[in-house]
Amino acid sequence: MDQGLRDELLKELSNATQAENITENEPLHRRTTFRIGGPAAFFVTPGTEEELRHILDICNRLKVKLFLIGNGSNLLALDSGFDGVVVKLGSGFSTLSVKDEINEGTGLITAGAGAMLTQLSMFALKKGFTGLEFAHGIPGTVGGAVFMNAGAYGGEVSQTIVSVTAMRRDGTVVTYTPDELDMGYRHSRFSDSDEIILEASFRLKVWPRIQIRALMEGYKKARMEKQPLDMPSAGSTFKRPVGAYAGALIESSGLKGFRIGQAAVSEKHAGFVVNLGNATSADVLSLIDHIRKCVEEKHHILLEPEIKLID
Ligand SMILES: Cc1cc2nc3c(=O)[nH]c(=O)nc-3n(C[C@H](O)[C@H](O)[C@H](O)COP(=O)(O)OP(=O)(O)OC[C@H]3O[C@@H](n4cnc5c(N)ncnc54)[C@H](O)[C@@H]3O)c2cc1C
Repeated sequence: MDQGLRDELLKELSNATQAENITENEPLHRRTTFRIGGPAAFFVTPGTEEELRHILDICNRLKVKLFLIGNGSNLLALDSGFDGVVVKLGSGFSTLSVKDEINEGTGLITAGAGAMLTQLSMFALKKGFTGLEFAHGIPGTVGGAVFMNAGAYGGEVSQTIVSVTAMRRDGTVVTYTPDELDMGYRHSRFSDSDEIILEASFRLKVWPRIQIRALMEGYKKARMEKQPLDMPSAGSTFKRPVGAYAGALIESSGLKGFRIGQAAVSEKHAGFVVNLGNATSADVLSLIDHIRKCVEEKHHILLEPEIKLID
């Protein structure tokens, strides 16, 4: 964007939120678990719905691109960065509360979209509610998890979600019921819309805390044993194809450890592409292309990436 637009944008953003919530030229490698990516022209963390609405209005009027980021754990940012405004919901969007204490053996937890999934599952444990154990250890936010319909070990967001409140790009707020959420495997209505998730409510069953804790600890142990948690990544690179596992297909295509530049197929879990240190987005994209080509040649299955680009 040219300097004139940059100056105008900064002036307008400064009217929308406090100066400490705005950063210019924020390196996206600091904001993604892959630790890859050039600068975002502006990185803004609104603290309230009103501030968010104001920022949306500014971007609409000035015709500037806006990308909503959660914890950046399913994202690849490009080396060229993002020539627009990256918005991350501030701490005002991270509240956790029980709205409906105990109702016929269930309770309702409402979580702000900026809350981390691990915090949410710990909160459910504290309250004695089952249904979110799978989320313990997924390094994303509630917003990112609803968007992706995140899941693991047989659980997924769609199983307990009862409503989602979102803001449309025109600033209006709408609440959706499960029927309207269009949840499928790593998909929700938000995958095809540009609405911003503000909060989500989950109906959970009352269960003994000792059993909830045991499940969570079991999942944590399994993650530590199977996943390359000591290396930067964006989790599973590809969606699970019908009737197969992406990791197994990649491994049997002889690609475990295969690398392009500083991006590699993890030695520990072939379903993960990892950053060996200084990987570029170009390294990752070339490696993804190569994996897809090899797996298609060997198994006649075209893998579909699960990770999304900030573009
Ligand atoms: C080590 C590791 C393990 C993982 N394990 C799992 C796993 O077991 N299961 C699983 O499903 N995933 C897993 N993931 C992937 C990732 O953590 C999940 O997809 C997570 O739900 C993404 O949340 P996020 O906040 O990081 O979203 P981001 O990566 O920041 O964003 C993902 C998408 O959601 C959108 N988005 C985020 N917040 C909002 C919002 N408030 N409103 C609208 N859109 C929004 C973004 O625009 C983007 O398109 C793993 C990742 C890593 C690095």
